[in-house]
Amino acid sequence: MKRYFNERTREFILLISYPCINKKCAFCALHLDNSCNTRLMLKTNREVVSKITGKYGILEVYNSGSIFELPVATLFELQDKIRKASINKVIAEAHWFYRRRFEEMKKFFGIEETVIKVGVETFNNNLREKYMKKGMGRVSPEEIRSFTNGINLLVGFRGQTKEMIENDMEIACRLFDYIDVNILDEKYVPNP
Ligand code: SF4
Repeated sequence: MKRYFNERTREFILLISYPCINKKCAFCALHLDNSCNTRLMLKTNREVVSKITGKYGILEVYNSGSIFELPVATLFELQDKIRKASINKVIAEAHWFYRRRFEEMKKFFGIEETVIKVGVETFNNNLREKYMKKGMGRVSPEEIRSFTNGINLLVGFRGQTKEMIENDMEIACRLFDYIDVNILDEKYVPNP
């Protein structure tokens, strides 16, 4: 999967983190970026964090997994930089598994707004759990909304119909404030 950024509106960073909680999503190769080498992660992440400018006041943090999987030292360095650079909005990602810790992360950054997006991919529970192997279980859009106002959707997965995509877009636009739509390019999908 390739990531396409709109650099005009916010600053993006990509950090390295410990292995993601799921590692099984059928469309994902991002978790191959994860590491268990703490020294490497701290060094790389420190360099990246030091380059944050705060230019737009909005920072989007990616780490090929959940923000909760970053080394604790990186999180503190990020917190410090966010305050010094006067960033008032942070957007990050986390697996549904961490939903009961979202408020904790918001308090940790202590800024105007922290959005923790969940990679819902689709509101069709059968497609998401049986074929995408997302590991969220059967959840309603309303339940997801009760934990976050940001989601990621996936378009282009095998078996996903036009009707399913339209239904996802309708629900997303009705209930959520931050919606990322990722277009799946099969050549980036690892072999089963
Ligand atoms: S999509 Fe997210 S949760 Fe799923 S394997 Fe990839 S990094 Fe992990």
